[in-house]
Amino acid sequence: MNARPEVRTARPAAQDVFPASFAQQRLWFLEQLDGSGPVWNVRLPIRLGGALDVGALQQALTAVVARHESLRTTFGMQAGEIVQFVAGELDVPVERVALPAASEDELRQRLGELASHTFDLAEGPLLRVWLVELSPTDHVLLLLTHHIVSDAWSSGVLFRDLAGSYAAFAAGDLPQLPAMPIQYADFAVWQRDWLKGAELTRQAAFWRAHLAGAEALLDLPLDRPRPRLQSYRGNRLGHGLSAEVTAQLKALAAAEGVTLFMLLFAAFNVLLARLCGQNDLVVGTPIAGRRRTELEGLIGFFANTLALRTQVDGAADFRQLLQQVRTTALDAFMHQDLPFEKLVEVLEPARSLAHAPIFQVLFVLQNAPWDAAGFGALTAAPVEMPPGAGARFDLSVFTTEFEGQLWFSLEYSTDLFDAATIARLGSGFEALLTAILRNPAARIAALPVQAAADLARQLHEWQPAPTVPTSPADVYALFRRQAGLTPDATAVECAATSLSYAGLDQRAGEIAAGLRAAGMTGQTPVAICLARGLEMLAAVLGVLRAGGHYLPLDPAHPPARRALILRDSGAQLLIASSPAGGPAGVVPRPRASSPRVSSGRGTTPASPPAEAPAYLIYTSGSTGEPKGVVVPQRAVVNFLESMATTPGLGAGDRLLAVTTLAFDIAVLELLLPLTVGATTVIASEDDVCDPQRLINLLSTARITVLQGTPSLWRNLLAAGWEGLPALRMLCGGETLDRELATQLLGRGAELWNLYGPTETTVWSCVERVGDEPGPVSIGRPVANTCCYVLDGQLQPVPIGARGELWIGGEGVALGYHHRPGLTAACFRPDPFCSERTRGRRMYRTGDRARWRADGRLELLGRTDFQLKLRGFRIEAGEIETALLAHPGIAAAVVVVRAVAADTRLVAYLVARAAVVA
Ligand code: AMP
Ligand code: MG
Repeated sequence: MNARPEVRTARPAAQDVFPASFAQQRLWFLEQLDGSGPVWNVRLPIRLGGALDVGALQQALTAVVARHESLRTTFGMQAGEIVQFVAGELDVPVERVALPAASEDELRQRLGELASHTFDLAEGPLLRVWLVELSPTDHVLLLLTHHIVSDAWSSGVLFRDLAGSYAAFAAGDLPQLPAMPIQYADFAVWQRDWLKGAELTRQAAFWRAHLAGAEALLDLPLDRPRPRLQSYRGNRLGHGLSAEVTAQLKALAAAEGVTLFMLLFAAFNVLLARLCGQNDLVVGTPIAGRRRTELEGLIGFFANTLALRTQVDGAADFRQLLQQVRTTALDAFMHQDLPFEKLVEVLEPARSLAHAPIFQVLFVLQNAPWDAAGFGALTAAPVEMPPGAGARFDLSVFTTEFEGQLWFSLEYSTDLFDAATIARLGSGFEALLTAILRNPAARIAALPVQAAADLARQLHEWQPAPTVPTSPADVYALFRRQAGLTPDATAVECAATSLSYAGLDQRAGEIAAGLRAAGMTGQTPVAICLARGLEMLAAVLGVLRAGGHYLPLDPAHPPARRALILRDSGAQLLIASSPAGGPAGVVPRPRASSPRVSSGRGTTPASPPAEAPAYLIYTSGSTGEPKGVVVPQRAVVNFLESMATTPGLGAGDRLLAVTTLAFDIAVLELLLPLTVGATTVIASEDDVCDPQRLINLLSTARITVLQGTPSLWRNLLAAGWEGLPALRMLCGGETLDRELATQLLGRGAELWNLYGPTETTVWSCVERVGDEPGPVSIGRPVANTCCYVLDGQLQPVPIGARGELWIGGEGVALGYHHRPGLTAACFRPDPFCSERTRGRRMYRTGDRARWRADGRLELLGRTDFQLKLRGFRIEAGEIETALLAHPGIAAAVVVVRAVAADTRLVAYLVARAAVVA
C-alpha cells in the first residue's frame, strides 16, 4: 500500500454507515445471487480443557465484540450502493449446548450442524458463539463468523483477543488489549478512495498483461458433467506428508532460493497440467492483504486472492519451472492490492454461473492461524471439524503444517468429483513431490503424477489376466475342430439354402483345391468379391484352408475403388461370381473370364504359422488412398476365442450376419458361430437393404444374436422394431449413446457395446450395457489385450484424466500393407505389457479416452479428423484429397453435420471447397 489508511473519523453512537470494501461488495452480490448458505462461514473451533468460567467467557466475548466494529456490522443498500452498518453496541450471547459424554463422532456431527448455520447479512449478527459442554472440564468453543466480516487471519486475532480477555476476567482483572487505531470501515473508505485513477490503472495494467489470453476454464477431468449452476456443495479430504518428506521439501526450497509455497505451488501446477492436458494454467492463491502494521490487529475481510498464471512446459526441467513460479509470485505480490473483485471488473471475463471467474482451483499455504497458548488456566487446542459445508471452487488445496508435517486438506465440489478421485489426486501429488525430491532437475514430462498403486491398477490390474492359448493357432483349424465335433449340425443358412459343418468344410476344401490349382502361393492375398450368400462364407474358409489370406471386396462399392484396392494389395487371384451367375470362380486377375472352380477334391488344410496373415482389409486413409491392414492368424484366433466367452456364444445360437465382408466386423458374424457349433444365418443383399425385411427375418429365422452398428439399430427402431425378448444385441463401430442404449435395453435380453479399430482385430473392448445414467462405457479389454491411456510422451495419464487410447496384445495387426513409414508411426513397441502377452507392439488408435475409477474405459472422441458415418470409417482427408485433385479447387475441408429432423440418418457430409476464381 502506498497511501495510509486515514485515522478514523468521529462517529455517532447508535449506528454508522460506511461504504463496503470491494471484497465485501462481491460477497454480498454472491449471497444475493444464489444465497450460498454456509459456504462462506469461517469456523474457529477450540477445545478448552479445565474448569471453565462461563461468566468470564461471556464478559470476554462482550469485550471483543465491543472492540471490533466488524463483529457488529451488517449490510444493506443505500442510494444504490452496498453499505455496511456498524451498530454502536451488540449483545452476542455464548450459546450453551449440553452434550454430556458424547463420543468424538457425535461431537463432530454436532459441530458440523452448528457450523452450517446460515447468516443473514442484513439482520446480523454475523458472529455466533456456541459452547459445547462435554463435561464440566471439557468444552468446545465454536466461533462462527461470516467471511464478509472475517478471514483466516481474523480467526487468529479473534482467538488472541478472546483468550487474553478471558484470562483477565477469570483472574478478576480488566483486559489490557492494545488500542485500536483504526477499524475495518476505515480501511474500506481508504480502499475506495485510493483505488481509483492512476493507482487503479497501474495495478490493473499489471494484471491485464499477466492474464492476457489465459484460458477461461481449467479443464479438469471431472467425474460428472459440470452443472449449469454451481451448487457450492462440497466435501473435504485430507492427505498428509511424513515429517521426513516435509523437512526435505523445506530444505529443497531453501536450496533453490524459493519459499515452500513456491515449491509446492510449482509442483501443484505440474500435477494440474498433466491432469488437464493444459500447459497454461491460472490458479488462485489467497494472501492476507494486511501489508501495514495497523491492519494486523483487526478482524475483517482483508484477504485477497491472486490469480497466478503458470506455463508448464513438459520439456523444461522442474528447476526452470521453480524459477518461473518465483518470478511470477514476486511480481504478483508486488501488485497484491488490486482486490480480486476489481480485477474481475477490469478483465470482464465471459461470466458463467457454472464456474468461478478467472480461476477455478485454489492453492493455499496457511500459516497456523493461532497458537494454542494463552487461554488463562485452560488448555486450548484445535478441534477436527467435519468437512466444511461447501466448496467455493472446483478444488481448493489448503496446506498447513502441524507438528512438523505438511497436511493437505482438499476441498472439492461434489457436483464435479467423487471422493475417490480426490483421494487419488492427493496421493498423486505426494508421488510427484517425492519424485521431485529425488531429482529436482527432472524433465517435467517425465515426472510421475500418480501413485504407484494407481499406475499398477491401470497397467496391470485392469488388464485381463493372460490366458493360455488352448486353441489351434490358425483360424481354419478352429472351424475344423468344430466340424469334427458336430459334422451334421447346420453351419450356415442363407434364404432357402444351408450347409452342414461337414458340407461347409468340403466346399471350402474344393475352393482351396481350386486356388492351389490356380497357382495360389500365399504370398499375395486372394480377393473375394461375392454377393452375400453361402459361397461368400465358403470362399473365406477356402482361402484360409489353403493357407492363404483373403482380401474382402464389396461388390456394391464403386469399381474404381475396388480396382485401386486390388492394385494396391497385389492380389493375383480373385474369387468372383461367374458371369453365368453360378458358383464362385477363381479368376486370376486381371482377366475376367478364367475357368471357374467346380468339383476340385478337398485338400489337406494347410497350417499357417500364427504370424501368417489371415486377411488384408482396407480402411480409409487420410492422405487420399485407402490403406490395407494386415491381420495375422493369431489375432483372429484370439479374437474368436475371446468373443466365444464374452459376450459369449453357444451351440444353440443363431447369429444373423448383416455386415458387408469389406468391414471387419463381418469376421465375428461369419466365423464366430462356426467355432462353437452355432449357426451363421446370412442375410441376403435384399434383406440388409430393408429394415422391415430384417425385422421379419429376426423372428422367422429364430435369431438369438445380432451384431450391428448404432446406425443399424437405429434403422430397426425407426422401422418400428419392437424387440425380441431372447435377442442378444451387439452394438459397435461408433458411439452408442445413452438414449439409443435405453431404447434397446428394453427390447432384447442383453445389450453389448463393442469397440475396436480394424488395426487391433475387430473388437478390443467389450461392455455389457446396464441402465446406469451417463455415457456408455466401452468396458474392458478383451482377452490377451491391453489398453493404455497415454499422453503425448507415451506416459500413462492418471486414472480419470484424458489421454489417447493405445492398444497392445494379441489383436495387434502386423501393420499396413506396403506402408512401412505409416506402420512405424502407428504401431510402436509396447513398453508396458511385454510379459503379459506375446504382443510386443501397441497401436495408436487416435481415440481420446479415459479410465473410469471402476476400471472401465470411456471414449471421448477423436484426436484427429477421422469420422464415422453410419458405421463406416472415413478420413476427412481422403475426401479432401479427392476434391483437391480437381484443378479448380485450391482448398477443401470436410465436416459432418447432424440432421436433427432425420433420426435415422443422423449425419451427412458437407464438403466446403474454396474454388479458385
Ligand atoms: P474401424 O476400424 O472401422 O472399426 O473404426 C474404428 C474406430 O471406430 C475406433 O477407433 C473408434 O473411433 C470408432 N469406434 C468403434 N467402436 C466404437 C464404439 N463402440 N464406440 C465409439 N466409437 C467406436
Ligand atoms: Mg472395428
